[in-house]
Amino acid sequence: MTMNTDLSLGITASATHSVSTAERMAALLLALPVGVIEHRSDGSIVDANREAERILGLSREQLLGMSSAASHWRTVHEDGEDFLSVDYPSTLALTTGQSQRDTVMGLKLPDGRQRWLQINAEPLMSEEGEVAGALVCFLDTTEASEHRRLLELTVDAAGLGTWEWQIESGGLRFNDRWHAMLGYAPGELTPRTSTWGDLVHPADLTVAMQALESYFEDRSQPYRCEFRVQAGDGRWIWVLAAGAVIEQDNDGRPRRMAGVHLDITQRKQLEQALSDAAMTDALTQLPNRHALCDRLQRCRDRSIAHAGSCYAVLFMDFDRFKLVNDSLGHDAGDELLRQIATRMQAALRPGDEIARLVDGEPTAVRIGGDEFVVLVDRLRRPSDAERVAQRLLDVLRQPYDIAGQEVLSTASIGIVTSDRADRDPDALLRDADTAMYEAKSRGRGRYVVFSEDMHDRVRDAVRLEADLRRALNNGQELHVLYQPIVELDTQRMVGVEALVRWTHPTRGEIAPNDFIPLAEESGLIVELGNFVLRTACWDAMTWRSSLGLRAPATVSVNLSRAQIVRSALAQQVADQLRESGLPAHALRLEITETFAMQDSDLIYTLEALRALGVSLALDDFGTGYSSLSSLDQLPLDVVKIDRSFTSKMAGSEYHAALIEATLRMAKALHLEVVAEGVETKAQADQLLLLGCPLAQGWLFGRPMPALALIERGMVAGAEAREGWCVSA
Ligand code: C2E
Ligand code: MG
Ligand code: MG
Repeated sequence: MTMNTDLSLGITASATHSVSTAERMAALLLALPVGVIEHRSDGSIVDANREAERILGLSREQLLGMSSAASHWRTVHEDGEDFLSVDYPSTLALTTGQSQRDTVMGLKLPDGRQRWLQINAEPLMSEEGEVAGALVCFLDTTEASEHRRLLELTVDAAGLGTWEWQIESGGLRFNDRWHAMLGYAPGELTPRTSTWGDLVHPADLTVAMQALESYFEDRSQPYRCEFRVQAGDGRWIWVLAAGAVIEQDNDGRPRRMAGVHLDITQRKQLEQALSDAAMTDALTQLPNRHALCDRLQRCRDRSIAHAGSCYAVLFMDFDRFKLVNDSLGHDAGDELLRQIATRMQAALRPGDEIARLVDGEPTAVRIGGDEFVVLVDRLRRPSDAERVAQRLLDVLRQPYDIAGQEVLSTASIGIVTSDRADRDPDALLRDADTAMYEAKSRGRGRYVVFSEDMHDRVRDAVRLEADLRRALNNGQELHVLYQPIVELDTQRMVGVEALVRWTHPTRGEIAPNDFIPLAEESGLIVELGNFVLRTACWDAMTWRSSLGLRAPATVSVNLSRAQIVRSALAQQVADQLRESGLPAHALRLEITETFAMQDSDLIYTLEALRALGVSLALDDFGTGYSSLSSLDQLPLDVVKIDRSFTSKMAGSEYHAALIEATLRMAKALHLEVVAEGVETKAQADQLLLLGCPLAQGWLFGRPMPALALIERGMVAGAEAREGWCVSA
């Protein structure tokens, strides 16, 4: 070996006397896990160790005398460019006399394999100070390089931008991919930590700094954080940053940190969309109950913080919504809700002189079904909430056009103001709901401001519903009375109307107008209606058997809309007729004008009833929304003029004229007409003069039990062969 003595010097101290330097050198060269080659000054190889043979794939004999300049292999730089022999570390060491450090070179071996070498070269100086040769050491880094390249590929394929931070000096470098991700030209940004501070969204800066600090405090988990970074075009891009310290000083203080940034904008947008969806009512696009509770809480906090800051909760429910849903179908119901939402929003536009909206946030909220809440914030005084409520009522009571059909729906509104700011959002909503029920029970289409005593009344209503359920089960508290319907000129009774009565064990008599709406709302009306129908059919059979031809020719039974839409009504009526044995022509069913909407399902049911042979009467005519034309559009036999017309006709030409018009129209359509609520002889005379054939009212008889009717029939029996005169 002709190795440089410098190398031997390093190990002389530990050598034993019996082993020569040359032997130690030889052993060292054999054992070294690095390739070592010695060049002469002309570049030719004079020596090579075993690792050099292995790495280069050539035997020592082949290597000796070979000139690196006349390569047997192709050499490349990291970027794939040819590595010229003039730039070889050995060449440079020989020509410049300078040490060469950490040169990376790719080597294509004669057998086709490629190796990556990390090379150091050291010039060998003669005693005269001339460059006499060069010693080249090289490490096979193929495996490590491949790992690094694979990692780079992976990072690139994953769309990750990488960064490296020199913590002490404040240098911060991003790779090309990072620049592309954020829309900057490589090198466009100053590679300093301050650049990062400028790019991160001001609102996210604290979070990002805190994440870094807590990572430095405990490095057992990698650093992770999400924040927004400004892109080249000014947009904010959400990035997920992850990284770790890759170098630290002797005291364990971090010196260098590296990691990746991933663009997570899409995920963030999706998350935002999901959270918006969780706060929005899908049907109307209004905020939902969650959003409302959030906002209520904020209003409450503010009103506690700033005395005098006023807000109000308006809870509203639509009086006809169930009706529309049941009769026109769910699509129509949905459409109605959408139109309601649009109107409400328009009525609550920001810039309102009564209520200013916060940041243009919509205040109308749908919290389920036909229940909406309006939050009116920053009121000047609590009473202004009533002005908002009145305006909403006015806007919402205008007719709606649902699939070409005019629909009317009024709202009932319950108001709670921030006088009760001590209440939590749920309690506030409950109170507003209670006030809304009060508005409903006071006649709908109105607003009511909450007061403490309302809780008791709501409790009462709940109790009453339970009582009605019990009454229907025990069959003792409910009974049916019958009121005569007479021919005006002869005063002969031609029929009776069945009217339900409830004798409550503690409250006494409860009028139908006080419990029928409750029964309708709770659904108990179906059962109640069935009870009246069954009773009326059986009672009518009893009269027929005891009075024969003198029995009332028809018995009229009132129907609620819920009965028509909720149950298989025609089937039930057919069953009752069959079970009781009452002929169909003896049964008359009364429907009210409020459901005289043009609804094909309803008309279908009415037709089915008539097909059974049952006759149909339109009750309370003149009070609803429909007009004389509904007489033609519904399958009817009888029209009953409402009591309000009978009582007002004497003093009001309008009412008298309307009765006349109804009579003319009914005549043209071959409908019978009954005037309701005739209390005086004068009224009876005037009706007779107008040409009204039939009447009902206290003048002819109050509603009475079935038995009383039989008794009166027996008494009157002698006087007439068919029917009997009610007045003496
Ligand atoms: P309606 O069907 O219009 O019944 C006529 C109402 O007018 C009855 O009130 C009757 O007692 C009352 N009335 C009759 N003649 C006179 C009169 O000369 N003067 C005055 N001031 N009132 C008179 P009632 O029995 O209190 O029933 C009220 C309403 O409750 C009924 O109006 C009907 O819509 C409903 N209703 C009664 N029974 C039933 C039932 O079994 N089912 C359903 N669905 N509704 C019923
Ligand atoms: Mg009636
Ligand atoms: Mg009536």
